[in-house]
Amino acid sequence: MQIIVAKHSGFCFGVQRALNMVEQNLAERDKIYTYGELIHNEVVIEELKKKGVVPIEDICMLNQNDLIIIRSHGTGPGTYERLEKLGIAFKDATCPYVKRIQKTVKKHHDLGHTVIIAGKADHPEVSGINGWCDNAGIVVSDEKDVDSLPYGMTACLTAQTTLQEEVYEKIILRIREHCDGLYVYNTICDTAKARQHETEELSKKCGVMVVIGGFNSSNTRKLADLCRKYCKRVYHIQNPKELPLEIINANDIIGIVAGASTPDWMIREVIARMSEVEKTMAEDPKVESSEDEREATAAVEEPDLKQSVAEELETGTTEANDNHETSFEEAVEKSMVRIKHGQLITGTVVQIADEEVCVNIGYKSDGFIPKNEFSSDPDVKPSEVLSVGDEIVVEVLKVKDEDGNVLLSRKSVEGKKLWDELMHEANLEEKVFEGIGKEVVKGGLIASIKGVRAFVPASQISIKYVENLADYVGQPLKLRIIEVDKSRKRIVASQKAVLMAEAEQEKKEKWSRLVVGSKVTGVVRRLTSFGAFVDIGGIDGLIHVTDIAWGRVKQPSDILKVNQQIEVLILNVDAEKERISLGYKQLQPKPWTKAEENYPVGSVVEGKVVRIVPFGAFVSLEPTIDGLIHISQVAVRRIAKVEDEISVGNIVRCKVLEVNPEAKRISLSRKEVILDENPEIAEEIAREKQERERLNAERAAQRAAIAEQAKQAERERAKASASGKHERVDHERRPRRENADYDLPPVQQSTTSLADLFSSLTNNEE
Ligand code: SF4
Repeated sequence: MQIIVAKHSGFCFGVQRALNMVEQNLAERDKIYTYGELIHNEVVIEELKKKGVVPIEDICMLNQNDLIIIRSHGTGPGTYERLEKLGIAFKDATCPYVKRIQKTVKKHHDLGHTVIIAGKADHPEVSGINGWCDNAGIVVSDEKDVDSLPYGMTACLTAQTTLQEEVYEKIILRIREHCDGLYVYNTICDTAKARQHETEELSKKCGVMVVIGGFNSSNTRKLADLCRKYCKRVYHIQNPKELPLEIINANDIIGIVAGASTPDWMIREVIARMSEVEKTMAEDPKVESSEDEREATAAVEEPDLKQSVAEELETGTTEANDNHETSFEEAVEKSMVRIKHGQLITGTVVQIADEEVCVNIGYKSDGFIPKNEFSSDPDVKPSEVLSVGDEIVVEVLKVKDEDGNVLLSRKSVEGKKLWDELMHEANLEEKVFEGIGKEVVKGGLIASIKGVRAFVPASQISIKYVENLADYVGQPLKLRIIEVDKSRKRIVASQKAVLMAEAEQEKKEKWSRLVVGSKVTGVVRRLTSFGAFVDIGGIDGLIHVTDIAWGRVKQPSDILKVNQQIEVLILNVDAEKERISLGYKQLQPKPWTKAEENYPVGSVVEGKVVRIVPFGAFVSLEPTIDGLIHISQVAVRRIAKVEDEISVGNIVRCKVLEVNPEAKRISLSRKEVILDENPEIAEEIAREKQERERLNAERAAQRAAIAEQAKQAERERAKASASGKHERVDHERRPRRENADYDLPPVQQSTTSLADLFSSLTNNEE
């Protein structure tokens, strides 16, 4: 006899999860309720009833302190609303697969599409799903039902999770003809699909098929139907005791399949009963059993066993095979995977639903990877990176979580692998990694570096102060690892360090590009008494106050403003001391180059007296050009001091007498302007001048006469001397020179001052 147990037998993930939830809550309460029978298996239901699990169909029977568990089939939204309204506590064990269908249906119903559900209308899962589209869904059980549907629909089609694939495919084909737009969702549960496929294959090669599961279990009935397609001897039993042992022959190949509501113990009991029969046959001389056959007997596959374990059994390497005294049940028990917290284990993905993954790890129940334990990158979706049947390595987080499930983590395995890979990077702390901001935490940001979580302190995110860390979530970051704690698997990273290094490099390149004598554009950043700091592209240079303008600058702010954009000339670069001297005035036209044009000789200009010196007054014509009024040109008449006529700050009008750009000199005359603008004064001055000239002429004539007299006297003395008569020269009588230079007028007739006289004298001398 050879017994082959389908790998996909017994409780599915959804059912196991619901049962675990029940057991968990039974630990805290004596009695709990389930909304309908938890699973379609009378034996299990009876067992549960004995433990205090009461199935009810109407929640009105519940009291305020009761707890009810929604079974894996799910229910409509009305049930939740009523429970909440009544204030009754509930736990939701709806299978994630079913939840996904409910959401899909609701979405399309809200969009106004017709919802079509392929399945049995009276199945609790189907009626629950229909509740999510206000019971407006059309339920079709096969392609014939489709014929009665209207045409021209925009519809959404989903299937009961345990529907046969073949049936669904036919419905899809037929329904397309009725729809203008059709959204088809393949919602048949992967576990159910795998179970059906395996059943189909097994029933093709087995002479006897034993199907274990409730008669009221839809998925078990479907398995039995499938078996009947390929196998003539099919026995659907609800209970191991119902196994018709008399039909078993020594050379039978017996296939065992079990529905999703069938507990493992039931399968084991069936195997055990067959084991007993086999023993009997071996002892009975009437039963022929070759050595080969006995070996084949041991080739039993056990539900929920890892492939490797099943293979082990098939190849006869287990104790069960070596020792016929060991029962199949014991062999199965021995080959069961034992798990413990923290264990790494390879499993097979059996289901992906709602981004949660169910993994067959060879344990008595499948493991479950919740969404937050799938990957350290929350953007990674299980359905995008995994498929049913894929092998993955997971870590056991809890053998039993609060819902009684085996809690697994792919994230921690992935994290360990990524951590190891990262730690093996060469020059780890010198490298710059591309990271991404993940979440804000106390004191900083969590970033992902090659999938490994790294803490970036708030002070290390940027060179500048960061007001809102959340701005960096989801943003790419350039990170350098600045601290690694291998024992705690903790990394501290810094973006600031990278940015500073980049800035430093950039600065170096900028300095190397600075050429003395070149023109650059900059922005005035700061003004001080000694100059202006100008940003010329990340580097500040200084324009000394003397290089701001060609003229004298009291304050740089008189010429430049903060944030003003200007062109400057690089005068000097000292990269070592990081100093740059800039010139602004050097790019401005020199004021004296246009002086002749701006101030033509003879023109009248206006300016402010800015300085007074003994020989005249300086007048500012423009910030960089001062003209000089010589003291003789300050007033129409001679003055002793400039201040007698004008003061610093006076605005004066002057005539340009001379412009000398090379010597940077402009001679001005205030006097000329006064005379031009006041003819009466000019006339008076002219008259005075004439008078002075007349007097001068008279004096000249007098001096000439006196000189002639002196010459005459000299000639006479010479003559007398020649005649021998020596005359004594009377020096005292010789007129003194000064007496000959001028004549004092009689006192009573004097109209001229002493100064006038001296003035005349001076003029004569000139
Ligand atoms: S959908 Fe699949 S996993 Fe969920 S309860 Fe049904 S058969 Fe089980």
